Amino acid sequence: MTTLYEGAFAKLNLTLDVLGKRDDGYHDLKSVMQTVSVRDDVQIDVGTGKPWTLSCTLEGIPADERNLAWKAAKVYLDAIGEDPDGLAIRITKRIPAQAGMGGGSADAAAVLRALNRHYGDPLSILALAELGAQVGSDVPFCTLCGTAMVEGRGERLRSLPGLPDCFFVICKPDFSVSTPELYRKIDEKQIPRRPDHQAMESAILAGDLGKICENIYNVFDPIVTEEHLELNYIKSIFNSYGSVAQQMTGSGSAVFAIVPSFEYAAVICNMLKENYPQVFIAKPV
Ligand code: ATP
Repeated sequence: MTTLYEGAFAKLNLTLDVLGKRDDGYHDLKSVMQTVSVRDDVQIDVGTGKPWTLSCTLEGIPADERNLAWKAAKVYLDAIGEDPDGLAIRITKRIPAQAGMGGGSADAAAVLRALNRHYGDPLSILALAELGAQVGSDVPFCTLCGTAMVEGRGERLRSLPGLPDCFFVICKPDFSVSTPELYRKIDEKQIPRRPDHQAMESAILAGDLGKICENIYNVFDPIVTEEHLELNYIKSIFNSYGSVAQQMTGSGSAVFAIVPSFEYAAVICNMLKENYPQVFIAKPV
């Protein structure tokens, strides 16, 4: 039996635009995504000689074939035609659930990378990301990691240069948002403002953190904020203590800020911790 270890990194959407609903019911998106150092740890025993098992340290996450990590293992092994003779997957969860931080997708991506390494890298990272699309929309990006322009349902990826040195503060409030409900709402509305992807890409290429911050924008943010004014409170704390960009990630409910130094991040984190148990300081990875 061999034990594999892999980090599963959370993602943030620096931008997120919904371009329209497709005939197949999915939405076409455009987003600059970034992986950050908030991580789950995934361990896989390969060759246990027993039926597959999965355990997870967070209650409420399915610990069976419904788990995205399990699905990823199945999709990968089917694709390369290998039988591992038993798998035991263990997930140490730190990425909050239903946060818009792609927790499940990150775990699935970690399984793809770990198994691919175990079998001698038969698939390139891009082929692995493509396979990830069968597991979930955010899995391709979570497989690639770094900074990328993501389009379609999440399957079209273009890597961008890494962000300049900075810190993220991420706060997950107690409430959760229903993603299907949010898409239904956005389909019914005119989107009043959209992110400027060209400007964001130029800012990233120039390594200009000020301009990157100016261009952070998520079309879901005002819709969720309208119903949960609490997000404005969190953003006001971010803003009062040195952040110039604060925005919700994905379909929420986590919000993040970019700050230039650890000192600012630590002050914001201490302020928010008084009311919110789930606050993280992270770096881009
Ligand atoms: P996204 O940004 O991709 O929408 P999210 O933060 O909104 O992610 P997740 O925390 O990834 O959502 O999980 C969404 C649902 O997926 C959970 O309610 C959970 O039941 C299911 N799920 C399946 N596998 C996992 C996993 N390994 N970790 C977390 N959730 C998982």
